[in-house]
Order: sequence, then structure tokens, then C-alpha cells
Amino acid sequence: MAVQVPSRQLFIDGEWREPILKKRLPIINPATEEIIGNIPAATAEDVELAVAAARRALSRNKGKDWATAPGAVRAKYLRAIAAKVTERKTELAKLEAIDCGKPLDEAVWDIEDVAGCFEYYADLAEGLDAKQKAPVSLPMETFKSYVLKEPIGVVGLITPWNYPLLMATWKVAPSLAAGCAAILKPSELASMYILNLVAVICLLYENLRAFVYIFHLEPTMLLIMYAFLLSSTCLELAEVCREVGLPPGVLNILTGLGPEAGAPLASHPDVDKIAFTGSSATGSKIMAAAAQMVKPVSLELGGKSPIIVFEDVDLDKAAEWTAFGCFWTNGQICSATSRLIVHENIAREFLDRLVKWTKNIKISDPFEEGCRLGPVVSGGQYEKVLKFISTAKSEGATILSGGVRPEHLKKGFFVEPTIITDVTTSMQIWREEVFGPVLCVKTFSTEEEALELANDTHYGLGAAVISNDLERCDRVSKNLQAGIVWVNCSQPCFCQAPWGGNKRSGFGRELGEWGLDNYLSVKQVTQYVSDEPW
Ligand code: NAD
Repeated sequence: MAVQVPSRQLFIDGEWREPILKKRLPIINPATEEIIGNIPAATAEDVELAVAAARRALSRNKGKDWATAPGAVRAKYLRAIAAKVTERKTELAKLEAIDCGKPLDEAVWDIEDVAGCFEYYADLAEGLDAKQKAPVSLPMETFKSYVLKEPIGVVGLITPWNYPLLMATWKVAPSLAAGCAAILKPSELASMYILNLVAVICLLYENLRAFVYIFHLEPTMLLIMYAFLLSSTCLELAEVCREVGLPPGVLNILTGLGPEAGAPLASHPDVDKIAFTGSSATGSKIMAAAAQMVKPVSLELGGKSPIIVFEDVDLDKAAEWTAFGCFWTNGQICSATSRLIVHENIAREFLDRLVKWTKNIKISDPFEEGCRLGPVVSGGQYEKVLKFISTAKSEGATILSGGVRPEHLKKGFFVEPTIITDVTTSMQIWREEVFGPVLCVKTFSTEEEALELANDTHYGLGAAVISNDLERCDRVSKNLQAGIVWVNCSQPCFCQAPWGGNKRSGFGRELGEWGLDNYLSVKQVTQYVSDEPW
């Protein structure tokens, strides 16, 4: 399918601007490994401009600026963005599909969620005015106290690649609703892998002129550097904002590499808060940078989420949720339930059905009719997933199914859904996030043992329990160490409900009213109301 990939610039102060250093990064279609366009690569110089523009958006026309405008005014813009996104749904979904390899149907759901999220925060922006001056009850009548909720100020939003536009929206919509001005730094995927040297050399020589131009690099450097991908849909959000007339500087979008564009944003003294979604390793760097200025951060990080399947379940339904919970979006979901903990009495039969179920998943180019699984996002991710699988094998685990590229697909970063058994709790595959279509399995005999296995992780993002005994589900939900627990399902996500993790999965909650609170500061106003002298 022909998809027109627009060529865009950085979006600063309501205008398209070329990056000051004029660098660009290629976008690679993970299903074909072809370069399909490029994105601008911002650096610290561009961050300066964007932060200054955001600051101006909050101080322009005092009393009528973005921060102090009535919530209803901000809601009007958020609704207009939702309407534009809906109008351009098919086009945006195609870009998302070609960018990260997700099946077109799923990309359409994502874009619908994006519009829904803007609508939802438009409602909350309207409701915010009525919540101002909420009284606080005090133990002394001589004082009266109330609370003002105010926008935090200029916020830096740094997001990952797995749901480019949706992850950005989870931050952009509530921060704008709260009255903040934002600088969004979406993901690039700039791995330095030498994946398949021959393929790389061929690709580089085919496109040598373009690469030299794009990177301003020596050809020899190109042989060891293969930076690829990403996220043009976030720049389309900029175009949407321009079309609806969002005031200049309220949202600025800087694509680029993490260390070059993300790091200067995280450590910028005039950015009041950083909201980050990504890996725990980068999250810890962001936290360290923010700590230098005692700047608040919220962190949505990785996971290694368990799914517990008890013996009283409908095996087919449970197998379907297990497969969906781990293999949907190729397991490139922070909350993917990638550790299956299944009761020993049903394990054999359950795994047979699960394998059968996964064999029926159609793996193909995301644009093919009926595609359920596309490629993983990039060559680097493909190599990483295969390395996890080979390490599991070398540590003594058994690859029950998958573990390889599907035979019918000669190009593209495709990996079959993989189920791994004979796993011990000390193995890498049990402990570390793969972020790929890989499920590892352990069995249990008692509820206590299941919980112990489920909580045996540094992460604490999602968890699922499947059982017909709802009392047991309640008990287990309470004892699971996770920010999100699914009962008799895995992965459904609603923008009304809080999202976030514990332990090394981060802190703070996105979505729902908790997502709005992320961008509000609370001010106490206390008045002496007695005629008596103090
Ligand atoms: P990543 O940490 O590599 O990158 C995330 C973002 O941080 C990107 O925009 C990147 O450019 C930027 N970045 C990288 N280095 C930086 C630095 N030094 N300073 C500032 N910014 C920097 O993560 P990824 O590979 O893009 O995404 C996958 C990870 O995201 C997985 O671990 C996944 O679990 C996690 N994730 C979590 C959630 C959640 O809600 N908890 C949702 C989606 C993804």
C-alpha cells in the first residue's frame, strides 16, 4: 500500500522550523527494511528555542494566557484537536502502521483512542474551574482555608516508540488541559547495532549519498553506525495543532535522539516538570537530571508482568487472553503479561491450546488483510529479541514454539510468537523485560506459590489473574504488587482509569483525573477571619 510520508520540520512557537544544526534521521519501514522518509533531529539549541516559546505562551497577555484562561477555552482547543485527529484517522493510522509495523486495524484503534483521550481531557479541563477554591475544613473557626489548583508551568514530555501518538497524547492532552505549556520529545530509535553487516553495507551503499547528507558523516562512520527510525505521527499532531489554531508555544514538538534532544530538555533549568515514559534505564537518568534542580518527575517505565491461570478456568478463553496479553503489538507493550504462571494440573493441556492459538495468528506486512502481527519495530529490536531467546536456550530453557523468523517472510523484522518452558527464576528470560513476542512459563500448585512467583520481580506495572472463583481473584488482586491488575482479561486500557506502576516500573499515575493532577500544583490559601486580634 502506498503511504505518503510527509516531510516535516520541528514544531516550535506554532511554526515549522528547520533544526538549527540541520540534522535529520531516516525513517525505516520495519516490514520491508526500506527507508521511507526522514525526521528532523533536534539538539540543545532547538530545545532552548522551544523552552523559551513555551514560557512566552504562559506569560503572554497576562490574564488571558493559556495558563489562566478558563478551562472551557482550553477544552475548545482540545475538542478541535480530537475532531481533526478523527478526520485524519485513516491517514494517521497508515503512518503509525508503516512507522512501527503494527497491523493497520490496531493502528486505527490507537488513533481512535488518541481522539478519545483529547475529548476526555477536554471534559476535565472544563470541570477544573468548578473545583477551584475547594474549602479545607480546619479545627479553628478564626481561619478559613481553600485550595487552588494551578498549572505546574512549562513541562517536558519524553515518550517511547511503541504507541508513538497515543503515548504522546497521554501526556499532551492532560498537560494542556491543566494549563501547562509543553515540549514533546517523541522517540527515535537510534540503536548502534551492527545487525547484519552485509545487509547494512548494501543498504548504506544503495543510499550512501542520502546518508552522507543526512548525518553529515564520513562514509566509514556509516559502516559502524546504523541509526534508525521513527515517529512521524507526533509531527502530524503538530500539524493538527497548527490547523486548529492552538496558540503559539503551547505545544512544541522536537523529534531527535535521546541524548541530544531529550537530555537537554530533562536538565533545562526553565522546565518545571518532566513526564517520562520509556525504559527504566533512561528513567533513572532522567530522574538524576531532574534531581539536580529538584524538579518533579513522573516515570512510566518497563515491566515484566505476570498472568496467573488457575485450574478452574475455561481453557480456550484463558489461552486467548494469555496470547493476547503477551503477543498483542508483538509484546512491545510495557504491561505485556509475559510471565505465564499456570496451575500444574492444567499446564500440559493449557500449553497445547496456547501453542495452537499462536499458530493461528497471521503474521504479515501490517497492511495485509487479516494481519494480526507485524514486524517488531526495528532491526535493533529484532536482534535484541532473538538474543534473549538464544540466551534462554543456552541457560537450559526449552523453546516450546516460535523463536525464529517465520519461513514465509524473507525481509522485515518479523519474529514468531515464542513460548518458553523449563524456566527457572534466576534466568534472564524470567527477570528482564524483552519487549518482544516472548512468553516464559512456570507452573504452581498453591495460590501462595503463584503469588510468590508473580511478585518475584523488580518491576510492578501490570498483572493478570484468570479464575472462575471471583473471591480468589479479589484476594489475589490485593496481594499482587502491581499498579494495574486485570481479572479474567489482560491489557484492556481506558483513559478514565489510572495507569502506572510500582517498584522499578516507576511512579505517578497517568490517565483519569490522576493524569491531570500530574500537571497541577496545589496552593493553600488561608485567611484570618476573626475580628479578635491574633
Ligand atoms: P527508551 O528509554 O530507550 O526511550 C524513551 C525516550 O527517552 C525516547 O524518546 C528517547 O529518545 C528518550 N531518551 C533516551 N535517552 C535519553 C536521555 N539520556 N535523556 C533524555 N531522554 C532520553 O525507551 P523506548 O525503547 O523508546 O521504549 C521502550 C520502553 O518504554 C520499555 O521499557 C517499555 O516498557 C517502556 N514503556 C513504558 C510504558 C508505561 O506506561 N509504563 C509505556 C510504553 C513503554
